[in-house]
Parts: sequence; C-alpha cells; structure tokens
Amino acid sequence: MFLKINQKARVFTLDTGRLNEETYEVMDAISSKYGAKIEILFPDKNEVEDMVREHGPNLFYKGKDSRFLCCDIRKVRPLKNYLPNLDGWITSIRKDQTQNRAEAKKFEIDELHGGILKINPLVDWSSKEVWEYIKENKVPYNKLHDMGYPSIGCAPCTRAIKGGEDPRAGRWWWENDSDKECGLHVSHNVNP
Ligand code: SF4
Repeated sequence: MFLKINQKARVFTLDTGRLNEETYEVMDAISSKYGAKIEILFPDKNEVEDMVREHGPNLFYKGKDSRFLCCDIRKVRPLKNYLPNLDGWITSIRKDQTQNRAEAKKFEIDELHGGILKINPLVDWSSKEVWEYIKENKVPYNKLHDMGYPSIGCAPCTRAIKGGEDPRAGRWWWENDSDKECGLHVSHNVNP
C-alpha cells in the first residue's frame, strides 16, 4: 500500500538468523513484485556468539529469561539501533492481535524508541479484512499461512495451530501466558 503511494518508501525487516525458509521467500517475492529494496537488519554478531556460547543455540526453551534474552539480542536491539536514525516508522500491528496491542492507536509517540512517531495504519483492521486485501491485490504472503500458521516468528519458536486455538497459540507454544510478545512493541526490561 505504501509503495503504491510512494515508490521511494523505505522498507525494513529483521532477520534474527532463525527464520523459516518461507519467510526469506516472501521477502524475495515482495522485492521482485514491488521493486523494493528491503533493508534487512541483523543482530550483532558478537552478542549472538556470546549468548550461544554461554546458553546454547536453543536457549529459548530453557525458560522465560532465556527466551527474552534471545528476543532481545536477535530482535529488540537491532530495531533499537536502527530507529533513532528515523523520524518515524510504520508498522502493521492490529488491535485484535494481542491484549497489549488492543490499546494501539493509528498515531503514537513511540516512547520505547526515543519518542519518534509510530504509525499503525491497519490498527482497526480485522484479520478477515487483511486477507481480503491480500487476495484482491495479489500481495505475496508467507506460505506458512496456508499450513496452519496464522502468526509467524522464528522457526524454532513458532508452530502451526489446531482448530479452535488462539491465533498466537503457536508462538512460544511452551509458555503458558495468554499474551505473548517478543518486545518489539512492548518492553520486557531484559537486563542480561
Ligand atoms: S522468537 Fe525465538 S529464536 Fe527468535 S529471537 Fe525470540 S527466542 Fe530467539
């Protein structure tokens, strides 16, 4: 939608190093369909090496602190390092995704990232409306959605859901909380 308005719009995403192959495929499909050069943000190599050396590659299964540490190093810090270079950013979060996001507004001051502008244009959209837009406009989407994954994060931390489960039940499925987040849109105050 943004690229239709402005061909020079900057598009960025995070590569944690633990994504599914299908996620890389959709990045390529989007670049090729819209001619967008996606800026891919990576975590700091030394931080990842230190973390994996100390806690192992699959530390997230060991407990919540370990999981937050991994999300912090692989996702939250790269975003925190990137956003101060911008006046604002646009996200696709929606109110119906999590309890935390239910309070989101179309325009916010992003206190987590230095008080820049945060714009959430789809905040009032339902999942059904998103899918209608995708189909009508032939927007490339992650093939995992057709395999029972309504919400997609990193490969080891996301599974398909069963009928009747909450759409985010497949994210960090071994945790019991009803409202799970990685820290990109809410803070977990991780202090490794
Ligand atoms: S979702 Fe899992 S693998 Fe990805 S950054 Fe968080 S804990 Fe690490």
